[in-house]
Amino acid sequence: MAKNRELISIVAPVYNEEGVLDALYERVRAVLDGAGEEWELVLVNDGSRDRSAEVIAQLHERDPRVKGISFSRNFGFQIAATAGLDYARGDAVILTDADLQDPPEVYPAMLAQWRAGYDVVYGVRASRQGETWFKLTTAKLFYRLIHRITSINIPLDTGDFRLMDRRVINSLRGMNERNRFLRGMVPWIGFRQIGVEYNREARYAGEAKFTSVKKMLPFALDAITSFSYFPLQLATILGFVIAAISVVAILAVVLVRLLGPHEPLLGQATTLVAVLFLGSVQLISLGIIGEYLGRIYDEVKGRPLYLIQESWGLEEGPLGRFAPPMGPNSTD
Ligand code: UDP
Ligand code: MG
Repeated sequence: MAKNRELISIVAPVYNEEGVLDALYERVRAVLDGAGEEWELVLVNDGSRDRSAEVIAQLHERDPRVKGISFSRNFGFQIAATAGLDYARGDAVILTDADLQDPPEVYPAMLAQWRAGYDVVYGVRASRQGETWFKLTTAKLFYRLIHRITSINIPLDTGDFRLMDRRVINSLRGMNERNRFLRGMVPWIGFRQIGVEYNREARYAGEAKFTSVKKMLPFALDAITSFSYFPLQLATILGFVIAAISVVAILAVVLVRLLGPHEPLLGQATTLVAVLFLGSVQLISLGIIGEYLGRIYDEVKGRPLYLIQESWGLEEGPLGRFAPPMGPNSTD
C-alpha cells in the first residue's frame, strides 16, 4: 500500500491501566502499520496509582512513536483527553479509551471517511459487551434527557471514541472551559460529521472506573449545565405553575367561605403540606442556581486545566494549550 504522508495520532487517557497498555500498543501498531500509516500513540497518564507510568516509559523506549504525558494527579477522563488532544500533532486524531473497548480495527474505516472529506468520524456502538444492565439503562436515559433539554445534537449511542480532523482539534484547543463535556463540545463545533458503526468490546483487563452513581452524576451534571439553561428555567416555570394553582385555590376558598356551609375549612395539615411543598421547591431552585454558580466560580478562577509532571517524546515543541490572551501589563 502506498505510504501516506499524513500523521495519524491516537490519544488514550490512562488511569490504572498497567495491564492493558502493552496490548493496546500491539493492536494499534498492527492495524496502523498494516495500513501503511504514519502514526503516533499519545498516552496520557491521569495520575495512575499503579505502574502505568513505567509501562508508558518502557513503551516509549521500545518505540518512540509512543509518547506520553503524566499528570501531577488525577484530573479525570475529560481533562486527560483534552491534554492528549492538545499535544497530539496528527493531521487526524483518534480519541479512544485505553482499555481496548474501542477496537483499533475500526481505525481504517474511520480514516476512509476522513479521507472522503469528513472532519469528525464518531464511533457508533452497534452492540456493547461486558457492560451491566444498570450502566446501559442509565446511559440510555441520560442521552434521552440531554437530547430533550439541550440545543446541540449529540448522536445517540456514541461515546468519546472518534476521529477528528486537525481543524476540529484546533477549535477544541481554543475552548478553555473547565467543565468539559467533549461529547457535546465536538458536535457544537460543527463541520462535517459522520458515524461509523462498531462493536464495543469488553474491557481487556483491569476495572471499569465509571460504574457508580457517585462517579457518573457529576459527569451528567457537567454535561447538562454546560449545554442547557433548562434547569434554571425550571424554577421560573414551576413558579408560574404554582402561582396559577394558588389563584384558583384562593378563589375557591373565597367562594366556599361566602356561599358554603359555615364550617371551618380543611385543617392545618393542608397548610403544612403547602408550606413544605413550596419550601422544597425553593430549596431545589437554590440548589440548581448553586450548581451553575459553582461552575462559574471555577471558570472565573481561571486555573490551568491540568498540570504535567513528566512527559515522554513530547519535548520537540509540544503544542500545549492556547495561552490565555495577554493582559495590558504583559511584557511582550
Ligand atoms: N480514565 C481516566 N481518568 C479517570 C478515569 C478513567 O483517564 O479518572 C480512563 C481509563 O483509563 C480508560 C477510559 O478513561 O482509558 C475509560 O474508563 P473506563 O473503561 O473505566 O470507563 P467505561 O469504559 O466503563 O466507561
Ligand atoms: Mg472502559
